[in-house]
Amino acid sequence: MLVLPPVSTPMAAASSPPPLVQVADLAGRGRSLIATRHIKPGEILLSDSPLLLYPSSPAASDADDHAALLRAAHSLSLSSPSSFHQLLSLHAGPTPPVSSSSSSPFPPSLTATLLAADRSNAFALADARRRVSAYAIYPLASFFNHDCLPNACRFDYPDRGSADLTVRALHDIPPGREVCLSYFPVNWGYKERQARLLEDYGFRCECDRCRVEANWKDDEENMEEDGGDEGMAEEEEEEEGDGDFPHAYFFVKFVCDVENCGGTLAPLPPSDDGTVSDVLECNVCGKLRKEGDEDGDGEMDDD
Ligand SMILES: [Zn+2]
Ligand SMILES: [Zn+2]
Repeated sequence: MLVLPPVSTPMAAASSPPPLVQVADLAGRGRSLIATRHIKPGEILLSDSPLLLYPSSPAASDADDHAALLRAAHSLSLSSPSSFHQLLSLHAGPTPPVSSSSSSPFPPSLTATLLAADRSNAFALADARRRVSAYAIYPLASFFNHDCLPNACRFDYPDRGSADLTVRALHDIPPGREVCLSYFPVNWGYKERQARLLEDYGFRCECDRCRVEANWKDDEENMEEDGGDEGMAEEEEEEEGDGDFPHAYFFVKFVCDVENCGGTLAPLPPSDDGTVSDVLECNVCGKLRKEGDEDGDGEMDDD
């Protein structure tokens, strides 16, 4: 009898490189993703396919979205009980109010668990004008914690018919450092950020940026909010000067300057030989910008 040799482990390992992030339990932050080695700007840290995907539209109400979520979750519970169990095990913040008009295929407690898991973990898939076409929950990407000055950002391409998500590093990340995303556009004001994080995720943010902005006077904050549309905050924050806003460099380099975009720019992935790209891509509008073409006045060199 012919015995075929087993696929050797080293070969299998060589065909799939070790992951660049791993789940770790960080004190006070729960399950987190940390870099397993030095990460270069633009490196793809993670590519993830949805555990759960459900359609939405700009006209959809919360009740519509909840109904679509519960239908998709019900299908998943039938087609893949293990994936459904994984969905239920995701970290969840506060339970949102359950719409009385939406009927659920699940008992009330399970419905509440699913709505809370969705609120804390779902990513909106949107086009370049931020029109949402679907929501997706990813098994690994849901472990990314939030930071108001993230060191990575996510890219998705629903326009190309894909619901997969990739996460790229904005800049160098040392091994062991936590990798964080911003859960909303980076140029939101302090109060708006804190309100969203408390309501949807159940925590107050005490990141470096929030510690600075917590001390801003109300009129500074209001000015930022009155600017209203995303994209305007950047210029206003630059005018604060580095004394009031030591993170201005981040905004000059990594926040898209296209009007009303508010996307985050990450370098394109390094070439095969490891050369870091000097072209940055906006994760919302897709604009490409060569490094050094910022609209700043040279202040970025002083930081
Ligand atoms: Zn913060
Ligand atoms: Zn943009």
